[in-house]
Amino acid sequence: MKVAFFDTKPYDKPGFDRYSQEAGIEIKYFETHLNEDTVSLAAGFDCVCVFVNDVVNAAVVDALYNEGVRMIALRCAGFNNVDTRACFGKIHVFRVPAYSPYAVAEHAMAMLLSINRRIHKAYNRTREFNFSLSGLTGFDLHGKTVGVIGTGKIGSIFADICKGFGMRVLAYDKFPNPNAGLTYVDLPQLFAESDVISLHCPLTEDTYHIINDQSVEQLKPGVIIVNTSRGALIDTESLINGIKVKIVGAACLDVYEEEGDLFYEDFSGHIVQDDKLVRLIAMPNVIVTSHQAFLTTEALDNIAHTTITNIRKFAAGEPSPDTEVCYHCDHQNHCKKQRHQKCF
Ligand code: NAD
Repeated sequence: MKVAFFDTKPYDKPGFDRYSQEAGIEIKYFETHLNEDTVSLAAGFDCVCVFVNDVVNAAVVDALYNEGVRMIALRCAGFNNVDTRACFGKIHVFRVPAYSPYAVAEHAMAMLLSINRRIHKAYNRTREFNFSLSGLTGFDLHGKTVGVIGTGKIGSIFADICKGFGMRVLAYDKFPNPNAGLTYVDLPQLFAESDVISLHCPLTEDTYHIINDQSVEQLKPGVIIVNTSRGALIDTESLINGIKVKIVGAACLDVYEEEGDLFYEDFSGHIVQDDKLVRLIAMPNVIVTSHQAFLTTEALDNIAHTTITNIRKFAAGEPSPDTEVCYHCDHQNHCKKQRHQKCF
C-alpha cells in the first residue's frame, strides 16, 4: 500500500513511521491540506490519510477515484468533512472511532476551569508582576448544573468528570443511553437550567448550529458554553451576540466553524481576516484553542496504531466493520453494513 498523508504535522510522524514500517506500508507525507487544488498529489497512491480540515467533498472524491485511490483513512473520529455518499461504491472510508476520549473530555474541563477561574488572565498578570485580583472572581463548580449534549464516549466521560466536581449533570442525546446513569432532558430544559453547557455530539444536519439565535434566547444568563466537538455546532454570530448582551457569560472554543484555513498554522505575523474569530479572541471571557483537545501522547499513539491497522487490513482484504464508516446510502432504508459486515 502506498499512502499519501495530507496535512502532516511534526507530531504525526513518529507514531506513523513506527507502525507503518512494522506493517510494510509506504507513506509519503504532504504538509498541504487535501482539497480540490491539491488532489492531483494523490495520483499513484492507493490510499489518502486525512485529518479534520482536509476537504473531501464530492469533487475531491471523484478526482481521487479517477487517480486510482481506493481508500480514505481518516486519522480522526469525526468524518463530517468527507462526502460519504459520494464515496459509496467507489472509495472505502475508515476512521479512528476512539483514540482517547479522556484527552478530549479532560481538555473540555481544563478550558472550563481556566475560563471560570480566569487562569488565562492570571497567568499573564503574574508574568508582569501584577498581583491584583480584580476581575478574577469565578464561581464554585460544585453544586452547579452542567448540560451535556451528546453522551457518547467523550460526553459520558466529561459527565463523569463533572460529577467528580460535585456538579448536577443534565444530558441530551438523540439516542439516549439507558445504561449511562444520566438524567436525560429535552433541549429547552437543558438550555434553561444549565450553568455550563458542553457540546459532545457529532456535526450532522440535525446538530448544525444547535446553538443559534433561538437557543441563545433560552439560555440561563451567565452560562459558560464549551465546544470541543465541531465548530459548526455553534452559529458564531449568535454566540457573539449572546456574549455582547451578557446571556452567555463565557465561551471555551476548541473548534470554530471557519477553522479550516487557520487552525494548525502559525498566523502570528499576519493580519487575520476572519473578523468573527478576531472578535471572539479579543473578548476577555472567551478562550480559543486550535482544535487541540485530542493532543496527548496516548491519543497520538492510538491514532497511528488504529489508522495503520485499518490500512493493513484493507490491503489484506479483511473487513473492519468497527472502523469503516456507514455511507448513509439509504438503500431502501436498509443499511448495507449488514451484508458482508461492510456498508459498501
Ligand atoms: P460518539 O459517537 O461516541 O458520541 C456522540 C454522541 O452524540 C452519541 O451518543 C450520539 O447518539 C449523539 N448524537 C448524535 N446525534 C445527536 C443529535 N442530533 N443530538 C444530540 N446528540 C446526538 O462520539 P465521541 O467519540 O464522543 O465524539 C464526539 C465528537 O467529538 C465527535 O463527533 C467529534 O466531532 C468531536 N471530537 C473532537 C476532538 C477534538 O480534538 N476537539 C477529538 C475527537 C472528537
